[in-house]
Amino acid sequence: MKSKVFHINKINDLEYITIPAFENEGITNHCFSTRLGGVSKGIYESMNLGFGRGDLDENVKKNFEILCSSIDINYKDLVFSDQIHKDIIKIVTSKDKGKGILKESDIIGVDALITNESKVPLVTFYADCVPIFFLDPVKKVIALSHAGWRGTVKKIGAKTVNKMVSEFHSDANDILVAIAPSIGPCCFEVEEEVVLEFKNVFNIDDQNKIINKKSEKKYNIDLWAANKLILLDAGINEKNITITDICTKCNKKELFSHRGSNGKRGSLAAIMELK
Ligand SMILES: [Zn+2]
Repeated sequence: MKSKVFHINKINDLEYITIPAFENEGITNHCFSTRLGGVSKGIYESMNLGFGRGDLDENVKKNFEILCSSIDINYKDLVFSDQIHKDIIKIVTSKDKGKGILKESDIIGVDALITNESKVPLVTFYADCVPIFFLDPVKKVIALSHAGWRGTVKKIGAKTVNKMVSEFHSDANDILVAIAPSIGPCCFEVEEEVVLEFKNVFNIDDQNKIINKKSEKKYNIDLWAANKLILLDAGINEKNITITDICTKCNKKELFSHRGSNGKRGSLAAIMELK
């Protein structure tokens, strides 16, 4: 797995991905995980970060402990999303620390998390869907959004920006964004039904940048380009957007891919806190 846009950090067996533009600001601890360096076995090998997928809970917890200690986050403070491919965005605070990892969570049906508090680490989960990281270094606000194709057509990325602006007075022009590893235009094949959902929300020019007809019934969709267009439309500056050059399905030895494993898989996670 190689990248021209991300840092791939290696510590013994452990590998995790960080975003140079975010690191340059020096105010977050963050990563996007890989499969490498955990304790889980079989289809979850080895850094599975998803509870409830059939893996042993103690292994998942240990994986969080290993990964978080390497990025200087206290895993006991993690706040989990609860993703249902919709566009509900929740602002979380220090009161939410530990929800999902140590205690029962009342964060239900939430696909994006925002906070402006220090040491409140946000977590969202993936295995092909598009992770979007947000950092406003001026107002010191962070967010993570889960944008599968459904979240993409619901424009959850733009809605997250709008919430940062309305709730924390962020200037969209200041916000740094990263579209992290996920299924690429090389591998995200769909049929007419999904294409129609994109045609409903993107104009013809944008459709031409996103949808590529491969055969009579098969199309490839570029979720990275779609999310970039959505973010530009929400006022994000193009120079502030980092776009992944890593496809999960093309790199299924290093990353969990739902499509690459017929659903037999663990979960990757996006994790970020303000220091
Ligand atoms: Zn691919």
